[in-house]
Amino acid sequence: MSKRWIIIPIFLLFIVLIGCLVLETKQTNKPYFVESDIKDTSNYVQSITSITTTSKKLNDLLEKHIKEQTDFFYEQIKKTEHPLLIDRDELNIDYTFEIIQPDTWNISYTTFMTGPTFTYPYKRIDCWTWNPKTEKEKSLDELFTDSIDFSSWKNYVFGKLKAECSSCISEDDFNELFTENFKTFRITEAGIIFYFNPFLFNDDYYDIIPVFQKVDNKLLLSNKNQEEQEIKIIKSHNIIDPNQPVIALTFDDGPSKYTEEILEILKKNQVNATFFIVGNKIDAYQDVLRKSIENGNELGNHSYNHQWLSRLSTKELINQIDKTQQMMEEKLHYTPRYLRPTYGSITNRIRKNTNLEIALWTVDTKDWKIHNINRIVERATRNIEDGDIILMHDIFERSKEALKRIIPKLKKQGFQFVTMSELEEVNLLRELQKSN
Ligand code: ZN
Repeated sequence: MSKRWIIIPIFLLFIVLIGCLVLETKQTNKPYFVESDIKDTSNYVQSITSITTTSKKLNDLLEKHIKEQTDFFYEQIKKTEHPLLIDRDELNIDYTFEIIQPDTWNISYTTFMTGPTFTYPYKRIDCWTWNPKTEKEKSLDELFTDSIDFSSWKNYVFGKLKAECSSCISEDDFNELFTENFKTFRITEAGIIFYFNPFLFNDDYYDIIPVFQKVDNKLLLSNKNQEEQEIKIIKSHNIIDPNQPVIALTFDDGPSKYTEEILEILKKNQVNATFFIVGNKIDAYQDVLRKSIENGNELGNHSYNHQWLSRLSTKELINQIDKTQQMMEEKLHYTPRYLRPTYGSITNRIRKNTNLEIALWTVDTKDWKIHNINRIVERATRNIEDGDIILMHDIFERSKEALKRIIPKLKKQGFQFVTMSELEEVNLLRELQKSN
């Protein structure tokens, strides 16, 4: 065999590898990648937002942690039989990622389980402070340039903890737990928040207790001021004829690594859609979201970390909605008009506690469940009526592939593609025409 026949396949493989790398890093200039795994099954729902970083060793730790948590959840819920849909168990995992210094990353995962299996919601937080250069965890005392007075911290933190829950932990147990190797903390611009998980406590306390410790100038948080990027919205030049049929394509649970390609498909076909965004991915996908707005698409609010909104307390519910609104305003200078409640579950309490309009759907492609692209295309294009709102998800490759065929098919049927706001305008115009 000539050498060329070996070199060519190797070269091609190399090109494919480079291609994959480019795709992987295209998402963000951050050293991590965010993905969500959202499921809505007959006996449980889950939303896991996880990260993959540029540090292999850290990824192994994080993956192991997620696996332990999900295994624990699945193990627990096996005990629940024939639950009503409304009583399904819920698993939610959410992350935070802060770059403190080039050699210090601070990561947390918060786990939340609730539903008929759990007498009380199960909550925990786990943190990693990581040095990507040495690929090792950093302990508390390694974080500071000056030595810290750890014993005074100890007194302060124990006092705060006692004030929150006097019988939760004894002084001896606390002293054993809270050493310089204590790792459950998050670093903020003003100091450190230490977290105490309920599994450390006596049975009668079910919440995570945070204790804030102020730190003066000893932590060098990376400069967070990002250059303000101006968004030039290219108003969709498609003129909508209210006398012709319209449909609204909507995508939930994104953005994801597929969103950018979905934007390209929409642009190529000169159509716009509405994306209901999960707030905890806004930061990592700023560029993609900016592009989405610039292309004339609409963004809606789909909670902060995809918890089951109708089950939350009013305070938590408002927080889930507002945090996403704030992130959009801060990072994208964009204010969503619509809220799509998670798991399609809407209550009067949600309506009462938000000024946003509620946006549900009329056609569910079930692309989160159906893997066959033909079937997704069929569900999105058969028996579609004027004014329909089609639900898809921009977190699956199959949805992206189906979209390539859905748009031409619907166009052929004479539909004009509108965003949620445009749909509302069309409906209003039609009402006016009727009354004239
Ligand atoms: Zn969703």
